[in-house]
This record gives sequence, C-alpha cells and structure tokens, in this order.
Amino acid sequence: MEVKSDDGLFQDAIGRLDAASAYAKIDQEALERLKYPKAILQVSIPLRMDDGSLKMLTGYRVRHDDARGPTKGGIRYHPDVTLAEVKALAFWMTCKCAVVGIPFGGAKGGIKVHPKELTPLELERLSRGYIRRVADFIGPETDIPAPDVYTNAMVMGWMMDEYSKIQRQHCPAVITGKPIPLGGSEGREDATGRGAYYCIKELEKIRQLKPEKTRIAIQGFGNAGRHAARLLHQDGYKIVAVSDSKGGIYNPDGFDVPSLIHFKNKTREVKAVYCKGTVCEIVEADAITNEELLELNVDILIPAALENQVTEHNAPKIKAPVIVEIANGPTTPEADEILTSSGALIVPDILANAGGVTVSYFEWVQNKSGLYWPELEVQDRLKQIIAREFNALYGMSSEKDISMRTAAYAQALSRIGRAIEAKGTQTYYTNHK
Ligand code: NAD
Repeated sequence: MEVKSDDGLFQDAIGRLDAASAYAKIDQEALERLKYPKAILQVSIPLRMDDGSLKMLTGYRVRHDDARGPTKGGIRYHPDVTLAEVKALAFWMTCKCAVVGIPFGGAKGGIKVHPKELTPLELERLSRGYIRRVADFIGPETDIPAPDVYTNAMVMGWMMDEYSKIQRQHCPAVITGKPIPLGGSEGREDATGRGAYYCIKELEKIRQLKPEKTRIAIQGFGNAGRHAARLLHQDGYKIVAVSDSKGGIYNPDGFDVPSLIHFKNKTREVKAVYCKGTVCEIVEADAITNEELLELNVDILIPAALENQVTEHNAPKIKAPVIVEIANGPTTPEADEILTSSGALIVPDILANAGGVTVSYFEWVQNKSGLYWPELEVQDRLKQIIAREFNALYGMSSEKDISMRTAAYAQALSRIGRAIEAKGTQTYYTNHK
C-alpha cells in the first residue's frame, strides 16, 4: 500500500472540495470551514498485557464537522493508523452523511495497534481504556462511534458498557454497531455490504446488467466485502476473485460464496473451497496477489479493504469498467483522473459504503426511541435511501457530464453548505439585513 506522509491523505481528501464546489450551492466561507476539522483528540492508552507487562498505545478521535448534527464515524484498529488518516476518514464521514441525507456530521477514531497480536482479554482492556480516554469527547448528542477495520460488534459492546459505567446510566445511543442484546439494530451487520449491493442493483436496471454474465472481483473479505459478495452471489452474480490481507484467489467460473465465508469464519483464511455442511473441500484455484486482483479482466471491481489501493501506477492496468468503492478512499486522486478519463464508472465510497452509517443512524434512532424495528423494515428503509441517492447522483453526473464522485461531493456540499449558512455566514447576514 502506498502510505502518504504527514497530512497527505487528509489534503488529498479535502482536495476534492474545490472541484466539486463548482457544481454545488455553497458559500466560500462554508467551504473554507470544511478544510479544518472541528476538533482533534490524541490520547495515550496504557494497556496491561496478559503477562503483566504494560504497553503504551496511541489513539485518536477526530470530529470533522457537526453543522448537520452530532458527528458519527467508526473506530479503526490498525498498525498503520495515523492522524492524517483519521482526519481524512472523518472528513469522508461528513460528506457521506450528507450524501445520504442523514442528520449527522463526520468523525473517526483509531488506535495504532496490531489487533491480531492481542488476546481477547487484552483487546477488551484496550477498548475500555480507549473509551476512558475519549469519554468527554463523545456522547449520544455529540459524537457517536461505530465499527471500522478490525473492530466489530463485540468491541462496540465493551465500549458502550464502559461509557455507561462512566456515566452511571445505560447509554446505548453513544455507539452503534453493537450486539443486538445491547441495543444493536437488526440489519446493521450486513448494512455496508448491502448498501453497495443496492447500488449495483440500481446500476443493473440502468445498464441492463445480466448477473450470470457479470464477473466481480472483491479486494478485502472482511465485514463489508463478504456481505456484498454473499448478496451478489445470491442474485446470480459471478464472484470470480476475493482476497484478504494475505492474498487472494481467482476462479473465472465464479466461487460458491457461502463456502468461502464458512471457511473464512472457521479458519480465518481465504481459500477456494466448496463446503457441504461442515465438510469443506479445497479445490484448485489460482492464488493471486492483491495487486493482481485489482487488474483482473472483470466487469465490476470492488475494493473493500483499505485506502490508496488504486494508484497512478496500477490505474492504467485496471480493466473493470465499473468500480464500486466499499473501502474508504481506495482510489487516489491521480488514479481517479486516469480511470474517469478512460471512461470507467466509479461509484464513490461516500455513496457505495454509506449503508453502514445509514443503518447506524437507524440504530441510534431506535436506541433513543426505545422502539426496535424488524430486519425487513431496516432493509427496506436502507434500500429506499440508497436507491434514491444513487439515482439522483447518476442523473446529475449524466446531466452535467461529471463523475459520480464529483456529483456526490457537490450534493454533499450543497447540503452541508445550507446548514452552515443557516447558522450564519457573512453572505447570510448581508442578505438578511
Ligand atoms: P474488516 O476489518 O472487517 O475487514 C477488512 C478486510 O480487509 C479483511 O478481509 C482484511 O484481511 C483485508 N485487508 C486488510 N489489509 C489488506 C490489504 N493490504 N490488502 C487487501 N486486503 C486487506 O473491515 P471492514 O469493516 O470490512 O472495512 C473494510 C473497508 O470498508 C474499510 O475501508 C472501511 O473503512 C470501509 N467501511 C466499513 C464500514 C463498516 O460498517 N464496516 C462502513 C463503511 C466503510
């Protein structure tokens, strides 16, 4: 992965603003505000290891903008976490919430750690320790975390419990993506993958895609990637390649996705397998690298791992005419330019992976109202939002001859801009004298 130094990733992220502002109704003052995160917290977390030793770890929480509501965004555990990355991810959250029209701003958190090297008890102590450090910075009406890379419902449950202990009251709405018995929402687990799936279903109608003839490669077989694979496979799409951090597999005839998921859950490995019940048979399939996966001759490429995977170096070799970005920021601005000018359609991350935050919003609403919805209701509401926004952005991009990414940022900027202006900008005061 290309790692950008210093503030590079954040600067790249906000670099999208100026181009998109040409198509948005936004005051220059409001645009300027979005180039600066509202608040940044860096913490040191003492972690007591199982052998009794102490490790000091660094964590972050960044609140980018709260003009449209409390800030919202996941917490990532990864050895490559940097402040610039967390700032970029928080900025994307601001835009994402605006793209799908939910009343939140953007935030993100992270801990620089190798989570796979921790035991479950160490992971729990770390998660609770992080919350003790950031407890005054987050809250159900200020900033609401959620899962991201290498964090999951179990981690969210520990975090909610720790926050509730600090507040001396039950606070389910402080965090989303929780286990269902702790106030989690039905349908949150697969919401990110499902949102991307709904985008592809809309594209299917517009471009008359035939699922059985549509080959899809997915980089990243974690929470988001594997649910997208499962839903697309269920509809007859051919999932010809998947990968995880250790590498990938490729079979031009397509995989039996439920078997891949079963095997991955059991062994943590991505292997070309066919399972009957609990008996799995590993079959011949070409092992490929993550780099090779991106360059396969497929109809849809889904990056669902980390940022900066598609760069100026591999973009000219990418053959997929459609890219659906489940990962946040998988395409660098340089690669975006190359792919867009070669005619590829990129469904941008701030729309394609917005299913997660949308159902997180539903979870927060349910926690606050105390009334819980059945899974089908969650899915139906999600589908309506994603289909509506997908079609609006696809329409805007065709009408104005701009990329879907520019359309998405323009849409986000108009919505955020209206909120910032309504709170008072120089133009607002001049016009309301
Ligand atoms: P996850 O931890 O469940 O899975 C991450 C996957 O990426 C794993 O399969 C891992 O092996 C793989 N991976 C890690 N490093 C890799 C590398 N260098 N090359 C290829 N694969 C690699 O995380 P997730 O929740 O599925 O998140 C994946 C992406 O989706 C991230 O960019 C995340 O920000 C984004 N996203 C997730 C959610 C959500 O609700 N989970 C919501 C929006 C966006």
